[in-house]
Amino acid sequence: MKQLHKHIVNGRILKANGSWLYCDVCNKTVGYLVYSTYQNFRFDFDCKCGNKGHFELEYKTDKEIEKSNAELTTKKNRLCCPVDEAPLLTIVEKNIEKCSYSVTCNKCFKKYAG
Ligand SMILES: [Zn+2]
Ligand SMILES: [Zn+2]
Repeated sequence: MKQLHKHIVNGRILKANGSWLYCDVCNKTVGYLVYSTYQNFRFDFDCKCGNKGHFELEYKTDKEIEKSNAELTTKKNRLCCPVDEAPLLTIVEKNIEKCSYSVTCNKCFKKYAG
């Protein structure tokens, strides 16, 4: 079994390892994390309600993670890995003031930030 390290502040996640991410104060969605394609994921958001929250989910690995300066590609609101097209996350822009994220694809082990 792969062990998931998880640290969430002022937020809530629908499933144990992914799916909808919610603001803990107004209960609106702030993002969506695809559960099957990430190695690690970090998401910091400022919600329109004034709440600031943090999500961190990580599977440990011995593989080398390489930072990429490439942009994620967008397909129907889903941000995808540009190398293998793996769908990674969605940001619910209308409910948040701003956010920052990093995500590592578990197919190519490239790490993207935005
Ligand atoms: Zn909120
Ligand atoms: Zn990838």
